[in-house]
Amino acid sequence: MVKKLHEKIAQFQDANMIRAQGLYPFFRPIESGQDTEVIINNQRVLMFGSNSYLGLTNHPKIKEATKKAIDKYGSGCAGSRFLNGTLDIHIDLENRLAKYVGKESAVLFSTGFQVNLGVLSCITGRNDYLILDEYDHASIIDGCRLSFSKVIKYAHNDMNDLERKLSILPEEAVKVVVVDGIFSMEGDIVKLPQIVALADKYGANIMVDDAHSLGVIGVNGSGTASHFNLTDKVDLIMSTFSKSLASLGGFIASDHDTIDYIKHRARSLMFSASMTPGSVASVLAALDIIEAEPERIAKLWDNTNYAVKLLTDEGFDLGASESPILPIYIRDNAKTFQVTNYLQNAGVFVNPVVSPAVPSDSSLLRFSLMATHTFAQIEEAVDKLIAAFKVVGVDNIKEKEKIQ
Ligand code: PMP
Repeated sequence: MVKKLHEKIAQFQDANMIRAQGLYPFFRPIESGQDTEVIINNQRVLMFGSNSYLGLTNHPKIKEATKKAIDKYGSGCAGSRFLNGTLDIHIDLENRLAKYVGKESAVLFSTGFQVNLGVLSCITGRNDYLILDEYDHASIIDGCRLSFSKVIKYAHNDMNDLERKLSILPEEAVKVVVVDGIFSMEGDIVKLPQIVALADKYGANIMVDDAHSLGVIGVNGSGTASHFNLTDKVDLIMSTFSKSLASLGGFIASDHDTIDYIKHRARSLMFSASMTPGSVASVLAALDIIEAEPERIAKLWDNTNYAVKLLTDEGFDLGASESPILPIYIRDNAKTFQVTNYLQNAGVFVNPVVSPAVPSDSSLLRFSLMATHTFAQIEEAVDKLIAAFKVVGVDNIKEKEKIQ
């Protein structure tokens, strides 16, 4: 039995094939804090692969609040929210988040992934429908896999396809359209106004995953629904603390009844330990800073606009990005690994995104901005990208002569 399992697992050679070429880019150990510069292999590396959009993970006030919470409450809660794992600061944070995103109520989960697993597996039943954008995050897909409902996907951001799919569903069924607010690899923003119009027309509800939108778009960074002034039209808003909010954990916000239902049905909440005191305190402190220092979000967008200008002037293909997530399309798996490796050796960290995560003709470098980057760091990274494309011979350049 054991032998058979090992034989089966030994057939997995994807990672070894990349290792054999000396190009393996995953699980790179970082020997310093996550900031705009990190230390890898004793070398200074510019970080353009982080989700810490506001650059708050090393903020002294957040670190101080985290330490204080550990002193007061200890290092862990040793139980689920449902039983012995609820602290007063969990409730404080829930109230604060509900207000921030404009909903009646919210509940915390220990990761954003668990929010989508727990919520999507319980909110609809056998005769209902979950309708997804094909590029929705893996946690949404997996949550739907755990649901008894029927799952339908429409082509990315294609409102005609969404209407085609909605129009043939039974009128009496519950239908929930579930979308990313900002798509995590492509960086484009969901077409929420059109989705709201279609949801009204066909009697569907809407859930938005704001993992990459919180702290980035909307009033004071309060997310996608706020960005479009459509908060009342979105039924459920989830997000994570692992990106702009500099911590770990996640939440879902909605009306009182829906949140109460989720608290008594979502298994990844009820049967998993609650967020640690330190994680909760760091989110509360991050929210204080976002409120007190709106210039951080403005700087994130200045940096984004500056990087977009430099990159598009050089002919890089950034797809349809509208956010600090810039997909730099290479459209060739092998060259994407080679460019990532060249950049790592040259002192720039970016994330390669290759098939099967995206179709092989869509492989890309995921280049993401932080509020704490300087223009000089962005210039250095772009110069090194230009050199990497030349050395590797990437031809997916719009104005090729500029790169040669
Ligand atoms: N949704 C989206 C769109 C994400 O990108 C992620 C994280 N990559 C998650 C959910 C899960 O969040 P967490 O990291 O808190 O598990």
